[in-house]
Amino acid sequence: MRHTNSVQAYEEALRYISGGVNSPVRALRSVGAQPLFIRKAKGDTLTDVDGNRFTDFCLSWGVFILGHAHPSVNKAIRKAVSNGASYGIPSLPETALARLVNQHFPSMEKVRFVSSGTEAVMSAVRLARGFTRRSIILKFDGCYHGHADHLLVSAGSGVAGLSRASSAGVPEAFAACTLSLPFNDAEAVARAFRERGEDIAAVVVEPVPANMGVVLPENDFLPFLRRITAQHGALLIFDEVITGFRLSIGGAQQLLGVRPDLTTLGKIVGGGFPAAAFGGRSDVMALLAPDGPVYQAGTLSGNPVAMSAGAKTLQILSQKGYYAGLEEKADRFFAELSEVASGKGVRLNRMGSMFTLFFTSHPVRSFADAKRADQQRFGSFFRYMLANNFYLSPSQLEANFLSSAHSERTLGRFISLLKHFS
Ligand SMILES: *Cc1c(COP(=O)(O)O)cnc(C)c1O
Repeated sequence: MRHTNSVQAYEEALRYISGGVNSPVRALRSVGAQPLFIRKAKGDTLTDVDGNRFTDFCLSWGVFILGHAHPSVNKAIRKAVSNGASYGIPSLPETALARLVNQHFPSMEKVRFVSSGTEAVMSAVRLARGFTRRSIILKFDGCYHGHADHLLVSAGSGVAGLSRASSAGVPEAFAACTLSLPFNDAEAVARAFRERGEDIAAVVVEPVPANMGVVLPENDFLPFLRRITAQHGALLIFDEVITGFRLSIGGAQQLLGVRPDLTTLGKIVGGGFPAAAFGGRSDVMALLAPDGPVYQAGTLSGNPVAMSAGAKTLQILSQKGYYAGLEEKADRFFAELSEVASGKGVRLNRMGSMFTLFFTSHPVRSFADAKRADQQRFGSFFRYMLANNFYLSPSQLEANFLSSAHSERTLGRFISLLKHFS
């Protein structure tokens, strides 16, 4: 497979763009490959600047559940953009999408649109602190909530309960406002609330983590988080930037039956455009400016083109049988995949249409488990799949996604490639 044009495009990008990429994972360092430059995408297929075609299992990190360049979505986008790309003044598509979000996520009584998942979580956290007048945020190792300062924090080594910044440039004083605990560890959460319950503003969690690879919440973990936050007057924030409209039309909260105080959405909700949302209880959302004292704003927030792309996507997703169809295809695929995987000493973690193949024979129920998987071997698998025209999410610690555009034949080929991987 020729990559001459991608190599050249990367060299050119490196002259002007820091690291040659606008988001670090795209550099493909952790899988020992060179960045690909994409020319176009349609359905389940990416075409790079060398004319190579890849079946896409990353789908812009789960955005394109309908496949790339869906004709009805593109039609809605063209129509919206012909009326001007942004006004900085309210427009009807904002309310239309807000109504759809509220309809499918009843816990989001009020909503605000922003431009990225990072911004959504950052705003929800500020709001939770403003509402509770407390400063500590409790999160979980391996969950990703964007790159705002207070959330780039992981558990410190050694002393339990002491967290540290996971990026340079985050002041220790900020990191000290965040506790990061092992996912699925209810006892650690109970201890944190015993010790600092008065100071904890919110627990923020990916209800089904996808950013350490897919990890499933154990039976009572989310209901437990619901109970303990309520007992201590802290808010529960579900970061459904990936799981929202992915696991069901009403996200993980509908599927698992737990109602958070605040929710963040992103990825699918923008239909491929930079849009995200946060929302929840009316009494909490009432604290936002201009009604209340918590400031939050955005030049392109509620952008009409993004709102139209999101609304059209949600309309299609809400058609009867959409998720049942996707789930059925996923069930068949994963039944066969997991059998082949276990024969290879590989673990399949899966919920709905998202999955990770962990190159380890141990169960993966936390970030510590996920990190024990063999990243080198995953790197070889990634490169092998790429050479066979499949593009996976480019890290062992990420999720892969199915879309309604993937055909049974393609999925069969995926399985047979894994079978022959050595
Ligand atoms: C992608 C993601 C974010 C960050 O969203 P951006 O749009 O990349 O800023 C936050 N939380 C979760 C769960 C995500 O998957």
